[in-house]
Amino acid sequence: MDSSTVDYIGKLCAVVYLCGCPFRCGWCQNKELVLERNCSIVDIEDIINFLNENFVIDAVCVTGGEPLMQKNVIELLRRMRNETELLIKIDTNLYFPDRLKTALKFLDFVSVDVKSPLDRRYDKLVGINCNIDRIQESLEILKKWKMPKEARTTIVPNLVDSNDIRDIAKIVRNVEFDYYTLQQFRPSNTLDEKFEELETLKREDMIKLGRIAKKFLPKTRVRIVTQENGFEEIEF
Ligand code: SF4
Repeated sequence: MDSSTVDYIGKLCAVVYLCGCPFRCGWCQNKELVLERNCSIVDIEDIINFLNENFVIDAVCVTGGEPLMQKNVIELLRRMRNETELLIKIDTNLYFPDRLKTALKFLDFVSVDVKSPLDRRYDKLVGINCNIDRIQESLEILKKWKMPKEARTTIVPNLVDSNDIRDIAKIVRNVEFDYYTLQQFRPSNTLDEKFEELETLKREDMIKLGRIAKKFLPKTRVRIVTQENGFEEIEF
């Protein structure tokens, strides 16, 4: 567990990390969690007690890895909802639509990865032959969910370009996400070490991509996040 000012927009939140992920994104920086190294079993009771003893936080973010991969995540969220006063958010890669549907009952905010347009490009990003229908199904569920939601894309050099951003922005518009965040790839401690040789996009190039997305998303708050300047909102 950790605390953070960036994992729940506008709130100081506790962060609960759950191990495991079905994907193997070469550029992932959560190697230890994804490969389930140094993971330990923690009692839900202990997490709830920790949250209730922490008087400075307003919210809790459950993240991973992929938090919906853990069967007990629904029980964890249910108890967070019933036994704390906190706002609750999860980060998800959209690969568990049934669990997402159940989880939404307990959530105030959802942040999801839309890694590429919904076709075979996805496999390259996530490092497995993935079932796009599962991602599509999760997006359809989220379209009907009228609470705040964010989509995020990591701009991985050679894998995500301006055409992809145009296509992803149309998905973001269709699902009516409130926020769309473009994240700068960071070449350090990556799951596949080859990605550490890539150069990250400069802030100026991230702004250009943000403006491309914003053209399709007049009602969505489009943001970039870079090492140089942190979070920045993109205006017309
Ligand atoms: S970046 Fe990819 S591999 Fe890493 S946690 Fe997210 S979905 Fe899993």
